[in-house]
Amino acid sequence: MHQEQRRAVIKKNLIILMNRCVSHVPIRTCVSCRSKKGKMELIRLVINKDNSVVIDNLKRQNGRGIYICNDAACMERFFKKRGLNV
Ligand SMILES: [Zn+2]
Repeated sequence: MHQEQRRAVIKKNLIILMNRCVSHVPIRTCVSCRSKKGKMELIRLVINKDNSVVIDNLKRQNGRGIYICNDAACMERFFKKRGLNV
């Protein structure tokens, strides 16, 4: 019985550890196609007050940050819809 309990505890800890590893990658939603992807798969853009868009390579620029797929079609669709200057 004791061993059963110990096994249960180990299993529980393993699940916690696994969940931690998974949640380590922040998930963001693409503003264009709404698909959820890991932060690394998306590009962060910052929209300035004059509606110009800059790619935020360092991911720490000020301004309204959005995430979009690293995909030309996805970006074009979004920019056209929003009437943004690239
Ligand atoms: Zn997308």
